[in-house]
Amino acid sequence: MAGKLIIFSAPSGSGKSTIVNYLLEQRLRLRFSVSATSRLPRGAERHGVDYYFLSPREFRERIAAGEFLEYEEVYAGTYYGTLKSEVERILEQGDHVVLDVDVVGGCRIKEQYGDRALSIFIRPPSPAIEVLRRRLIERGTDSPEVIENRVAKMAFELTYASRFDLVVVNDELHQAQAEAFDHVKAFLER
Ligand code: ADP
Ligand code: 5GP
Repeated sequence: MAGKLIIFSAPSGSGKSTIVNYLLEQRLRLRFSVSATSRLPRGAERHGVDYYFLSPREFRERIAAGEFLEYEEVYAGTYYGTLKSEVERILEQGDHVVLDVDVVGGCRIKEQYGDRALSIFIRPPSPAIEVLRRRLIERGTDSPEVIENRVAKMAFELTYASRFDLVVVNDELHQAQAEAFDHVKAFLER
């Protein structure tokens, strides 16, 4: 059976990484598509595991070479993109691809893969902006300036929810994880 794509998008701090990491540990034959970015590693992030960390120049060279399925300047001067080679490699090995991309990238990939992709939007409970800001502060990995940058983008990102196949509200984490698991399992078995 050909591999499928599961696309996760959400405003930063929604708990997307936490939910994605949980799903990757389940027996669903899911593999994470490692994106490329021109931002610096934060915390314990490793090259080739969390991201391929490229310089802005190298990133632009790879755009010019047509190596991206999609890419986005998510924050000014900071590029993020999905490498075609990454997705193709996983599909060729017979596994399913999990992507963690911004809302615009998520819609672009869904457009390209149609029914072969399930797009899931992770949303925090209301009041969304306050909840997100608090989670980012508590995560403790970003400077106040970076956090405010991310918060400024959230209102825009939240307007994209309705374009996704599914919305999962991440209020109580275990419940959100179970809900995401059920949706993904049903889609893969379809
Ligand atoms: P994202 O990948 O969307 O930026 P993370 O998965 O890094 O978000 O989560 C942001 C922070 O919020 C982390 O510290 C995480 O442990 C915490 N978090 C995730 N889900 C919940 C939840 N349901 N309730 C409270 N905190 C959560
Ligand atoms: P972070 O810096 O928190 O890791 O990610 C910031 C944002 O970039 C998140 O919304 C994340 O989903 C998005 N992102 C990560 N990889 C990609 C990618 O390959 N393409 C796009 N379009 N966005 C990405």
